[in-house]
Amino acid sequence: MPPLTVACHAMATRFEIVLPGENPAALRAAGEEALGQVEQLEAQLSLFRAGSEIAHLNARAAQEPVRVTPGLFALLQHARKLSEESGGAFDITVAPLVRCWGFMGGDGRFPCPEEVAEARAKVGMGLVRLNPADFTVQFAREGVMLDLGAIGKGYAVERAAEVLREAGVSSALVHGGTSTVQALGTPPGEEFWKIAIETPSPVPDAPPTLLATVPLKEEAMSVSGVCGNSFQVGGRTYGHIIDPRTGEPAIGTVLAAVILPSATETDALSTALLAVGAAGHDAIARLRPGMKTLVVSESGGQLHVEAKGIVVRSAGQKPV
Ligand code: AMP
Ligand code: MG
Repeated sequence: MPPLTVACHAMATRFEIVLPGENPAALRAAGEEALGQVEQLEAQLSLFRAGSEIAHLNARAAQEPVRVTPGLFALLQHARKLSEESGGAFDITVAPLVRCWGFMGGDGRFPCPEEVAEARAKVGMGLVRLNPADFTVQFAREGVMLDLGAIGKGYAVERAAEVLREAGVSSALVHGGTSTVQALGTPPGEEFWKIAIETPSPVPDAPPTLLATVPLKEEAMSVSGVCGNSFQVGGRTYGHIIDPRTGEPAIGTVLAAVILPSATETDALSTALLAVGAAGHDAIARLRPGMKTLVVSESGGQLHVEAKGIVVRSAGQKPV
């Protein structure tokens, strides 16, 4: 019997849960409850939904301290810690730069230096005050904006997996838009869930080739990439992941993947790894014991792959 699959559209992507097992009615109920959690988080965290906690925060927190729910407060504290640990490569205040480079709802454009300087003045976790005494958030100036786009899907996947666990599900795969996937247990009779990572292709619609097959068990993996959300100027590709330390899109890195137990952390740290690229690979990989990582860089039309704990196939493998 093929495994049961339930899915929903949220956070501008498709969330899917694969549920192998003997009792489809109970599994469907657990899967739908987990998707309900994802939908609830979207309504809370989305930057673009008027009425979301994040939209309210962005509209008010420059004027006064804004109280948020304990769950969101804890997520913001976690995001601050990940920002500090990654030396600022992951930063949920990066939105003014994302907008300035034309990636907020667009395909990118080249800004003038004054625009970049103006945006940079509004970016940095130092501009965000988190007060644990009353769960309030306050911005130090106008124009600061929180965007959970690089951590929210992973957080939703992790929370959905918790719902499944609490419902007694021991084997499942949860993914959000294939960019973050979390494995509960293993498929029946198998040692691992096996997840494919495709080789990034500079040509849209080229047949996919397999870069790696990753075995996962009680672990999450996130993949960040610039394919499909980038523009080119002077032979260089500028993608939607910005290095907040320079104020410019990360150049030369086309894919980064991270494996850890927490999907919240893999989502944030794969974005950080893409931002720092091969030069910052060691520093990111040292952040957690047992962390597995992959960085694919591109120069002169050639791909260069650097992996830690992930077995990469050699070039020219047959399509997946
Ligand atoms: P992801 O696909 O998880 O790597 O997230 C990419 C999205 O996060 C981008 O489309 C931006 O909205 C946002 N973003 C870009 N650069 C950063 C960064 N350095 N830190 C945090 N979020 C970022
Ligand atoms: Mg991410």
